Amino acid sequence: MSTLMTDLATGLLEGMVKVVDLTQTLGPNTPIIHLPEEIAVNSPPFSMKEISKYDDNGPAWYWNVITLGEHTGTHFDAPIHWVSGMDYADGGTDTLPVQKLVGPACVIDCSTEVAADNDFVLTADHVKAWEKQHGDIAKGSWVLMRSDWLKLKGCENFLNADDTGPHSPGPTACCIAYLIEKDVLGWGVETVGTDAGQAAMFEVPFPAHSMMHGANKYGLASLTNLDQLPPTGSIVIAAPLKIENGSGSPLRVLALKTD
Ligand code: MN
Repeated sequence: MSTLMTDLATGLLEGMVKVVDLTQTLGPNTPIIHLPEEIAVNSPPFSMKEISKYDDNGPAWYWNVITLGEHTGTHFDAPIHWVSGMDYADGGTDTLPVQKLVGPACVIDCSTEVAADNDFVLTADHVKAWEKQHGDIAKGSWVLMRSDWLKLKGCENFLNADDTGPHSPGPTACCIAYLIEKDVLGWGVETVGTDAGQAAMFEVPFPAHSMMHGANKYGLASLTNLDQLPPTGSIVIAAPLKIENGSGSPLRVLALKTD
């Protein structure tokens, strides 16, 4: 029997391996990204309608019908979400290689910078400075930008938008180009989308979408609890629903870590 798996099983059962929930609760108040109506149709919010609850509609069972967009709450962006990734045969939620749905994580703590400047952008130089301190980002890693956004803004002000648009942190194009060069698995954030609030106006618009998905890499948005993860050494489990030709899906994101 594999020592690796028995050690993992023991670690889980005895609590040396901890499971961290990186997921926000999904409900009618879950903030939805809002795109300018001139250019896009927006997603309806999450809704839930009861079918039965131990009553005349079903005496011994409770269930609901839910309606939601694929990009709602804590969710996965698959490569075919963006036009740059549309041709990847393994880029939909039903065709993603499952081996890639479990992977190591590098967590870059930007919480101090984001608290001081909600429009903070992470550059390649920031990532290189992180690597000097914590070691090189390994191929196949999730790179997660910790901003403590939910704690900072709350659910009510999660989008942080005013008449100049949304103000939330994200990566620059040079940052994403560097991560693609490192052959990462994907890019994850604690804000509503993987790009900064002002990313429509960047020199390369929406780099975390256009460049990452163009390179057949993944995104995770509206994560939470990244403050509970070490900079390196955790494993993220992020498996979207297997929707036929899906562009992404809400999901439960879990991380495994030791103390
Ligand atoms: Mn999305």
